Amino acid sequence: MVPQGSRAELEFGGPLGAAALLLLLPATMFHLLLVARSGPARLLGPPPYLPELEELWSPWALLLCLTWLGLQAALYLLPARKVAEGQELKDKSRLSYPINGNPIYDFFLGRELNPRICSFDFKYFCELRPGLIGWVLINLALLMQEAELRGSPSLAMWLVNGFQLLYVGDALWHEEAVLTTMDIIHDGFGFMLAFGDLAWVPFTYSLQAQFLLYHPEPLGLPLALVICLINAVGYYIFRGANSQKNTFRKNPSDPRVADLETISTATGRRLLVSGWWGMVRHPNYLGDLIMALAWSLPCGVSHLLPYFYLLYFTALLVHREARDEQQCLRKYGLAWHAYCRRVPYRIVPYIY
Ligand code: NDP
Repeated sequence: MVPQGSRAELEFGGPLGAAALLLLLPATMFHLLLVARSGPARLLGPPPYLPELEELWSPWALLLCLTWLGLQAALYLLPARKVAEGQELKDKSRLSYPINGNPIYDFFLGRELNPRICSFDFKYFCELRPGLIGWVLINLALLMQEAELRGSPSLAMWLVNGFQLLYVGDALWHEEAVLTTMDIIHDGFGFMLAFGDLAWVPFTYSLQAQFLLYHPEPLGLPLALVICLINAVGYYIFRGANSQKNTFRKNPSDPRVADLETISTATGRRLLVSGWWGMVRHPNYLGDLIMALAWSLPCGVSHLLPYFYLLYFTALLVHREARDEQQCLRKYGLAWHAYCRRVPYRIVPYIY
């Protein structure tokens, strides 16, 4: 749950870690975008050049961003929509206002868990629509630019576009599932989520397509088929695991999950110990990582840059898994220990 009171346990290395990330995340994003356009495309080392300030500022770009956000906000507010119930807040009826007392840390992680104006929920809005759809649009623009440049989009570009479209389409299709994620339940709405959702996701997750535009990669059909298979396996595990948990949390007697083995916890909630959640403690992360590999492979193995997402995402999920374990331990105590004994591996069977 959200840290409460001044003695709440600090995450991300506390104020110092938060201050470092505040600088490091935007700097990394700019570095990646500059490097992807340069010939050598070196992930490590200085950027090929530093753009002039005028190059970074364009009133049209600002207008485009604001129009995009405005359009998404208008669609979000359309009256013809389903209203889903969120998770029960810790205090059952009131919103929580954690007081950590450090302005940098609070700015990074966010003090307010559910900032809203009437029914417009800022965090929920940013989580899915503008950034994720923006990512797909940037990918599509890069595909079209490649078609203009070389006559037609390359097979590698089609694969990257197709895989990431599937991922985003899946997230939008299962929109309700976002209500049970850590971002919504646990994290405040601060720089981390605002920058992450609106800038980091669309601009660094489209890095493979950016790379391919400037560094075309010939890809044969047999290898393309193997990469498609890897993506399909990743997606199968990712979707299977997420759906199994969501179905179970919504209705444990649903016939699709009723036969699964579970252990009881003192909170009254049960934990799955068979099916996907009996294989490792975070099977959904495993599937996500396998897909991340499939997104990088079409870019070949000559550069490290297209593998940035895989490396960053591995670090993110290992850290996220550790944070989730801490929260589950706090929530479930002895029952969580029993689950860990029963399912000893965290993300990768027999390895981690
Ligand atoms: P999860 O969906 O993995 O949810 C973790 C929660 O699931 C736990 O806190 C616990 O909550 C519940 N749980 C854990 N073990 C069990 C069990 N055995 N049985 C039943 N419930 C269990 O959390 P995330 O929000 O981290 O991930 C959601 C998805 O988003 C994942 O697929 C992840 O890969 C993806 N993701 C993608 C990112 C990206 O940038 N592409 C970034 C982050 C995540 P409780 O018991 O309270 O229900």
